Amino acid sequence: SALRAPELAALADSRTAHNYHPLPVVVEHAEGAWMTDVDGRRFLDLLAGYSALNFGHGHPALLRAAHTQLDRLTLTSRAFVHDQFGAFCAELGDLAGKDLVLPMNTGAEAVETAIKVARKWGYQVKGVADDQATIIVAHGNFHGRTTTVVGFSDDPDARNGFGPFAPGFVHVPYGDAEALAAAIDETTVAVMIEPIQGEAGVLIPPDGYLRAVRETCTANDVLFMADEIQAGLGRTGRTFACDHEDVVPDVYILGKALGGGIVPVSAVVADRDVLGVLRPGQHGSTFGGNPLACAVGREVVSLLSGGDLQARALELGELMRERLEALVGHGVHAVRSRGLWAGVDIDPAVGTGRAVCEALMERGVLAKDTHGSTIRLAPPLVVTAEDLSWGLDQLVDVVQG
Ligand code: PLP
Repeated sequence: SALRAPELAALADSRTAHNYHPLPVVVEHAEGAWMTDVDGRRFLDLLAGYSALNFGHGHPALLRAAHTQLDRLTLTSRAFVHDQFGAFCAELGDLAGKDLVLPMNTGAEAVETAIKVARKWGYQVKGVADDQATIIVAHGNFHGRTTTVVGFSDDPDARNGFGPFAPGFVHVPYGDAEALAAAIDETTVAVMIEPIQGEAGVLIPPDGYLRAVRETCTANDVLFMADEIQAGLGRTGRTFACDHEDVVPDVYILGKALGGGIVPVSAVVADRDVLGVLRPGQHGSTFGGNPLACAVGREVVSLLSGGDLQARALELGELMRERLEALVGHGVHAVRSRGLWAGVDIDPAVGTGRAVCEALMERGVLAKDTHGSTIRLAPPLVVTAEDLSWGLDQLVDVVQG
């Protein structure tokens, strides 16, 4: 019988904007680390929805929480309080060691929220002159796709043709603590960085960088805002990527895995002296903090509070790192990894990152290239060692092909 995938892929391609260039796989269902397409072919998921599926597809506890809440209550808006809201904020706040949680939906919205909070804090608490607040960001950053956020990206694809952009952002090289300290002036309200730059290719800053950022921010009365949307919630082997340097930012920006791969859930998490600056009417979201999101988010927090998944990410991450490092000089230029997250720079002689991902797909493995020659690997944290090894075998065969 005729394969359905090519036809469905063509339909999608013909009826949507071409803002993505997906691999031509058409997924129908999934469980754990495995996805099955409409023609019954199985694929190991080594992307995990860009870390949104840290707990895998169809995690039983997350599905149970979602199903139970679906039958009880799904939406109230924030005009009314619902019974999952306070519990979610308290439990996530406790996980992060912070007083307050402001739930939103997507990552970009949480970033926008953090920017607003930082500016408000700057005027109200720090005493920055009206409309003068600046926020320091890093070159190579990725914080989302809204107009303000792409305005401080330096990726031409992300920004060209979308201006005019909001002012108030200052760029420094990523990983350079001295440049960051030198960029601070009386208008600086916050430093916003990814503790590991994900979309840039899983770039890990030098040891001590996050701690130096923390110290510089403290010394200058500047908020340290860590965008842990992709790096946080278990991916790197710790709850937060900042934990690797025992650093606590003033503001955690969370998303992706917070929704358990079921619903979009993001949040800004900070102490009362920061998030407390918002008053009624100054910020909001129709869906942010809805009952379904909170119920799923509570289960996510519960899954992370035991620490088992973080330990698993460390252990499997070690396996992945060893296998990948053995490839350097054999089809791979460089490998960067932390926990169960790796950026693999493919030797151009082997092919583009896209070509490698297509070859992997033919072998039943799904991964995603970024910036031409890099492949990002982020398997669900629930993947078995056997399946992960098999997936890496396929990568070895493709790059040494
Ligand atoms: N921040 C970081 C670090 C991200 O990796 C992403 C998404 O890849 C975002 C923000 C934006 O999240 P969303 O796509 O949910 O808006």
